[in-house]
Amino acid sequence: MPLPSNTHRIAVLPGDGIGTEVTAATLAVLEPLAKRHGLGLAYDQLRAGAFCYRDTGTAMSEETFDRAAKADAILLGAMGWPEIRTDDGTEIAPQLDLRFRLNLYAGVRPFRALPGVPVALADPRARDIDFVLVRESTEGLFYSRDRGVVTHDMAEETLRITRAVTEKLARFSFNLARRRAARRGKPGTVTLVDKANVFRAFAFMRGIFSEIAADFPDVVHGAHYVDAMALDMVRKPWTLDVLPTENMFGDILSDLAAGLIGGMGFAPSADVGDTHAVFQPAHGTAPDIAGQGLANPTATILSAAMMLDWLAGKGAGQAYADAAAELDAAVDAAFADGLRTADIGGTDGTLAAARAVAAKIGSAP
Ligand code: ATP
Ligand code: MG
Repeated sequence: MPLPSNTHRIAVLPGDGIGTEVTAATLAVLEPLAKRHGLGLAYDQLRAGAFCYRDTGTAMSEETFDRAAKADAILLGAMGWPEIRTDDGTEIAPQLDLRFRLNLYAGVRPFRALPGVPVALADPRARDIDFVLVRESTEGLFYSRDRGVVTHDMAEETLRITRAVTEKLARFSFNLARRRAARRGKPGTVTLVDKANVFRAFAFMRGIFSEIAADFPDVVHGAHYVDAMALDMVRKPWTLDVLPTENMFGDILSDLAAGLIGGMGFAPSADVGDTHAVFQPAHGTAPDIAGQGLANPTATILSAAMMLDWLAGKGAGQAYADAAAELDAAVDAAFADGLRTADIGGTDGTLAAARAVAAKIGSAP
């Protein structure tokens, strides 16, 4: 059936474990939000992941991939399960295939201290943590996935950095810093995180960032070694802004950064390419708490806000940007008002958290 022209198709892939729980909670929050802002969201629920692999022999069918690729945006829960693996023992991770096949080079992971949510650092300035990792998601060391060579005597993996992808990553990062600067009322800073002192590939990456930086004179530009960044991220994370980095470094620093602001349950993400984008929490399927209704849906709800904002940037209209801002504000208000999920020592489960956020929609001052 044809949809009205102002309708946006969202492919929803809940996946496995808590992925299904946090996705259901997020859709429940989107319902009153869509009604209030007149958003036309049509969901296409699709099955993929480890249990899909177990039951059907494929983690994501071609038909599912095609439908996801044709949607205006993709909302994903989490995929993978420890006991379900491919014949060579690697994890089932069709979400990685989406990143590669749809060229989603920019893995955007914002980290912000939410009101009332405990941060890992005692310094009061840690309440001001507000930075974004931009994890390159199609090459780097992950390029080697499925390509590594293992013999009896050695194992070898390859790290790849290309000019084309690095230029896009750089432009994306500088544009993001510009938008954040406008919102925060202070100049934006892009700091490339690399290991240029040891590997030529990263010196190459630095050179490309410097070239692109010339087009963004209003944005401060620098570079930092990944080991030093790990230290700074713990010592003075409130000074950080936009941090583009190689795939594997981004993978590791994401978990460190999430640890600063309350854990994986508070870390949303968007995997963005030139035409497609996937929005999902940065966490996995959490088998230890799956099926108990305990998962914190905040990361997924904030990912949905990023999705609405991205759709607005793609021409969906101001109502989408307004809805994104209201959803962010509703999450803040719910926690400021006493919402305490289990991962931060509270008693509120997945649905209680969704209800608390939904209750704040429409009540903004
Ligand atoms: P992946 O390989 O996909 O990165 P992982 O094995 O690193 O997954 P995660 O599922 O990301 O593990 O989470 C690690 C732990 O953090 C979980 O076992 C769980 O205890 C906790 N956790 C993750 N997400 C949430 C959440 N939304 N709410 C509460 N706890 C969570
Ligand atoms: Mg992990």
